[in-house]
Amino acid sequence: MALIVQKYGGTSVGNPDRIRHVAKRIKAHHDRGDQVVVVVSARSGVTNELIDRAKSLNPNPDEREMDTLLAIGEQETIALTTIALHAIAVPAVSRTGAQAGIITDDAHTRARILDVTGGDIKTQLGAGKVVIVAGFQGLSKDGQVTTLGRGGSDLSAIALAWALKADICQIYTDVDGVYTADPRIVPDARKLDMLSYDEMLELASSGSKVMQARSVEFAQKYGVVFEVRSSFNDEPGTIVKTEAPNMEQILVRGVAVDKNQVKFTLNDLPDRPGVAAELFQALGVQGVVVDMIIQNIGRGGLANLTFTVAKEDVPRSEKVVQQVITSLGGGKQMPTTDIAKVSAVGIGMRTHSGVAAKFFEALAKAGVNIMMITTSEIKISVAIDPAQANIAAQAVHAAFDLGKT
Ligand code: ADP
Ligand code: ASP
Ligand code: MG
Repeated sequence: MALIVQKYGGTSVGNPDRIRHVAKRIKAHHDRGDQVVVVVSARSGVTNELIDRAKSLNPNPDEREMDTLLAIGEQETIALTTIALHAIAVPAVSRTGAQAGIITDDAHTRARILDVTGGDIKTQLGAGKVVIVAGFQGLSKDGQVTTLGRGGSDLSAIALAWALKADICQIYTDVDGVYTADPRIVPDARKLDMLSYDEMLELASSGSKVMQARSVEFAQKYGVVFEVRSSFNDEPGTIVKTEAPNMEQILVRGVAVDKNQVKFTLNDLPDRPGVAAELFQALGVQGVVVDMIIQNIGRGGLANLTFTVAKEDVPRSEKVVQQVITSLGGGKQMPTTDIAKVSAVGIGMRTHSGVAAKFFEALAKAGVNIMMITTSEIKISVAIDPAQANIAAQAVHAAFDLGKT
């Protein structure tokens, strides 16, 4: 008998037929005698719809109220999934994030998990019940409903798997696993059998939305091995775990595309110590995560600085930039532009040279102009025109022979 935590994403519970299908899959595990805890997302599209509805009433809605609103989506699917299980005679009970003891800080819309008590889940499992838990939501220490950032049901599942010491954590989604690139962008992308936490984390934080980056961070920190697989078939998926020695033989494991970035350029800033510190500190205080940064050598006592942020952070960043320019007594903000980021990721980069050259050559051959470059030990990223994002990803994917053989 195994304790299994499963997570079903928005598409997998998108309509009554799909919920019925998920219920049957859960029943198969329950019938085998396994103890099953299931985390579900909102139906696909629901979270976006709720956000749009709030913004139609107020372009800058209060974040606490947003959390109260967004938690509805997952609350609908826990009840419906449990009702569908009852219809096929599976004993089941639903639990909200709060009831499952997902305790968070009070950073509304992007709360961090502080503790997972599990509530009465163990008792319910002991009584032979399947427990269906709302993903994405938690409860702050002072009793407020919080949410864990977009894609946060992945984090709920991984955190519960850790807290309950589950034998298996399965993330069921609408693709067969983690691919060498988003199969919607690179048609010949190939499913990976396994990859390391570091690679999954870099792919996720570079735009591969198949896993929420924070969930991978949590899994790595607490050693939760998980499998990403399809809710539509029984094919084995992709195992994400600590790296094994043979994993370094592959130079580039995958390519990621992030089309959700905006570039800020500040010209004619005073060229003196502390300017970057003041700007990025102010952005940090407002919870803005800055991704790429370039500052060029100052001329005539003035410097230019460019950085990128996620689209949803643009209004907050605009405000900070204006305040900092006023406080510095110099600098002007140029119009912002949308950019796309294309990244190649692989732990083999630590031990092999020539990856950057091949990456840039592939982009050059595809006629893609590069605006910004950043690297980490296991990643190279470029900022480019969003109109060229797909061809750039396809070109890099082909250059490293990542496609189907
Ligand atoms: P869920 O609703 O199940 O959480 P998501 O939409 O969040 O599913 O994530 C699954 C999607 O992630 C896929 O449909 C795919 O388009 C996209 N994706 C991006 N990069 C990858 C990748 N490297 N491998 C697999 N899927 C990817
Ligand atoms: N429903 C939330 C979202 O769309 C959480 C999730 O699906 O993981 O971001
Ligand atoms: Mg997701």
